[in-house]
Amino acid sequence: MSTTPTQQEAEPEEQYDSALVTARRQLERAATHVDVDEGVIERLKHPTKVQQVSVPLERDDGEVEVFTGYRAQHDDVRGPYKGGLRYHPEVTAEECTGLSMWMTWKCAVMDLPFGGGKGGIAIDPKSLSADETERLTRRFAEEIRDVVGPTKDVPAPDMGTDAQTMAWFMDAYSMQQGETIPGVVTGKPPVIGGSYGREEAPGRSTAIAAREAIQYEGHEVSETTVAVQGFGSVGANAARLLEDWGATVVAVSDVNGALYDPDGLATHEIPTHDEEAEAVLEQDAPQTISNEDVLELDVDVLIPAAVGNVITADNADAIEADIVVEGANGPTTFAADTILEERDVTVIPDILANAGGVTVSYFEWLQDINRRQWTLEEVNEELEDKMLSAWADVRDEVEAKELTWRDAAYVVALSRIAEAKATRGLWP
Ligand code: NAD
Repeated sequence: MSTTPTQQEAEPEEQYDSALVTARRQLERAATHVDVDEGVIERLKHPTKVQQVSVPLERDDGEVEVFTGYRAQHDDVRGPYKGGLRYHPEVTAEECTGLSMWMTWKCAVMDLPFGGGKGGIAIDPKSLSADETERLTRRFAEEIRDVVGPTKDVPAPDMGTDAQTMAWFMDAYSMQQGETIPGVVTGKPPVIGGSYGREEAPGRSTAIAAREAIQYEGHEVSETTVAVQGFGSVGANAARLLEDWGATVVAVSDVNGALYDPDGLATHEIPTHDEEAEAVLEQDAPQTISNEDVLELDVDVLIPAAVGNVITADNADAIEADIVVEGANGPTTFAADTILEERDVTVIPDILANAGGVTVSYFEWLQDINRRQWTLEEVNEELEDKMLSAWADVRDEVEAKELTWRDAAYVVALSRIAEAKATRGLWP
């Protein structure tokens, strides 16, 4: 019997998993490769605490609205919880929990003395004036002050928040405590205890991961072509560094589309999202192509550095790159990952590639605690060391157990967390 396609049938086949489903699945997958007590795995499937608070805000016109804020704290066996605060209409307790688990793996793979946290407020930040954002942030800091602090939980900027938001948060917390406590958040402006190099760090670590992957596959960076989706903090910094190191960056894109030049683009001349939002297509290039086409270019290295779920079951077969370096969080769906693995495409996972952000946050926290600011050179040298060390740890698992880079990264993370849990034991 023939049927007319229904609306439902016309929808894409692949349903994207929530951050929580993904985080739990990765835990279970990693557990099959590591000898870990079942009880430890069971404990890691659940967050330690998810704080939900009401955040009243007096609008500029005097009206009062109440928003919901969250702070999910997944695991602190290796140190204080660490992770972003996002202002976005779709922030939920479940999303924060999943993302906090993700942060636990990211901190552990980098061997940072932190566990995973994530939080935020369900609100559209574009609907707020600067004064409203400040009042909202100060009130949120008051509502969650009992669960944060330099030795408890250290938030950072995320979607919809920035260095200024962290400055207000730090100020409100310090006022409440009666002393200046810069280490309560990271991602602050350097003038109040922020770290040089924090903004560029996730892009720098993505470029380092790309460089190491290129060399691991037996090639030279100077003979490599690269395509980058997203020209923001992560994508632009990664593209510019790889160009500086000799790579030919043939395509970069923003939300409107991509510039393409097979002979290589001058990436320093293209404004980043921060310098001039969505201005990529205003620059000269022999060709412009769509964001979808960027992903399917015949290049050596593809860096998705914009949003999640862009490499899916629908286009994974069309990816021509030999190496995919995940600059964005979660750009490859589970189904696409399986296809890329079957096709022998090397995928360097987000928890390793873009971990420069949380790594320099750790450096910022150290600088705050010690009241000593590092130079940009010191920060970049330490980041290079941390990345090379994490890279070597993951590579050893890839080789010893014949795992994908993603599975190997999770194995490194889980082994560290499980060992710490086993050593500390279960109270009571
Ligand atoms: P950003 O806002 O600085 O830049 C995002 C860029 O992507 C912009 O050029 C924008 O035009 C483009 N873009 C947006 N939607 C797009 C779409 N649908 N298709 C193509 N391009 C699109 O963001 P960012 O800080 O560079 O973050 C990018 C990704 O990296 C996100 O997944 C983020 O979670 C992840 N990440 C960021 C950090 C950080 O500290 N900035 C750290 C780790 C991971």
